[in-house]
Amino acid sequence: MIRKTRLFTPGPTPLLPAAQFAMAAADIHHRTAEFRALFLKVLAQLKIFVGTKNDVLLLSCSGTGAMEASVSNLTSPGDRVLVLTAGKFGERWVELAKAFNCQADVVKAPYGQTFDPGQVREALKPDARAVYMQATETSTAVRHDVESIAKLIQESNSGALLVVDGITGLGTTHFDVDGWGIDVLIGGSQKAVMIPPGLAYLSVSEKAWAAMESAKNPRYYFDLRKERKNAVKGESAYTPAVALVAGLGAALDYIAGQAGGDLGKGRIALVDNAQINAAATRAGLTALGFTLFAPAAPAAAATAVAVPEGIDSGVVVKALRNRFGLIVTNGQGEMQGKIFRVAHLGFFDCLDTIALLGAMEHIAKDTLGLPVTYGSAVAAAQKVFAEAASSS
Ligand SMILES: *Cc1c(COP(=O)(O)O)cnc(C)c1O
Repeated sequence: MIRKTRLFTPGPTPLLPAAQFAMAAADIHHRTAEFRALFLKVLAQLKIFVGTKNDVLLLSCSGTGAMEASVSNLTSPGDRVLVLTAGKFGERWVELAKAFNCQADVVKAPYGQTFDPGQVREALKPDARAVYMQATETSTAVRHDVESIAKLIQESNSGALLVVDGITGLGTTHFDVDGWGIDVLIGGSQKAVMIPPGLAYLSVSEKAWAAMESAKNPRYYFDLRKERKNAVKGESAYTPAVALVAGLGAALDYIAGQAGGDLGKGRIALVDNAQINAAATRAGLTALGFTLFAPAAPAAAATAVAVPEGIDSGVVVKALRNRFGLIVTNGQGEMQGKIFRVAHLGFFDCLDTIALLGAMEHIAKDTLGLPVTYGSAVAAAQKVFAEAASSS
C-alpha cells in the first residue's frame, strides 16, 4: 500500500506549496530594487501577522538566534533577569542568560504544567531588567498565560522588559502585543508560517529600543539596531536568506487569502484553525484511552500525549512512521520515551487530524493492544469539528 509521508512535528512543519514555488523562483540578488521591494513587503506583512505597531525585524537564523539577540541586545553583564521555565525551551532561556553573564532568578514549573502567578510575582525583583518566557512550551505542549504575566509586570514596580518566545505561539495563540505590553515577541519560519527553517522574526517595542542604548553585552551578527537601520531601506546588514524571504511573503499572502485578503483576519483564522485541530486531537486521543500530558493548560501548537505505563513512546513514534509514513515526535530530554507530540501549527486542516486519528486507532489496537472500537477517535474529533462549524 502507498504510504504518504505526513509531517506532524512541531517544527519543521508541512510546507505550503505556494511558498515552495516562490522559493524555487527566488534567484534575486539582495542588493537590488527587486529584493528591497520584497523585503519591505514582507516586513509590513509581518507587522500585521504579529499584530503590532512596533518594528518587526527579520533575521536569517533559526529561532534560537532571535532568542540570543534578545538577551545580548537588551542586557549587560551582571544584570538581574527573571526566567520562567517549564520545559526544554525555558531551559534555553536560562542557558542564554548565563552565557551573557546575567544573574537569572528562575521560576520553574514542572514539565506539563504552567506557572503559579503568585510565585512569579514574588520572584520579580524591582531591579529585574527583563522577564523571559515562552508563549507555548513546545517540549511539553503547554500554553503559558502571557497576558497575566504581562499584567503582573505592569502592576509591579520593576519596569522589566517582557520578552516572549512565541516561536510556536505565533499562529496558534491570540496576542495583543501592544495592549499587553510585550516588548519582544519572537517567531520562527519553520513553525506556523509554513516554510522551512532559517528565518526568525521579532517585534521590538520602543521601550526595548531605549534599553538597547544602555545594554553592554557584546553582539555583532545579531545587532538589532543595525538591522533596524537597514530594514528601513529594505535591506539587512548581511546576506539574508533570500529564498526564504520570498517563501515567507507567499505564505503570508496565503494566510491573508484565507480571509479574503485581510492578513489580520487571516491570522485570527489560522489561530482558530490550530485551536480547533488541537481540541479535536485531544478529544480523539482521549476517546482512545490516552492520557494528555498537559491537560490543564494545553497548547494549540501541539498536543503531548502520555503513553500507558511500561510502554516506550518511541514505539508509537516508530509504528506511525513505519506503518503510515506519519511523522510525530518523541519527548525531549527526560520526557523521551514517556510522551509523543503531534503538531497542529501552520498548514494542517481537519482532514489531516482525522487521518492522524485514524492511524492512531490502528496503532492503539495493534501496537499497544488497547481495546479499540474503530471510528471512536475519529467520531470524537468529528463532533468537535461539527461544533466549531456550527458556531462560526
Ligand atoms: C522551535 C522552537 C524554538 C527554536 O528552535 P530553533 O531550533 O532554533 O528554531 C524556540 N522555542 C520554541 C518554543 C520552539 O518551539
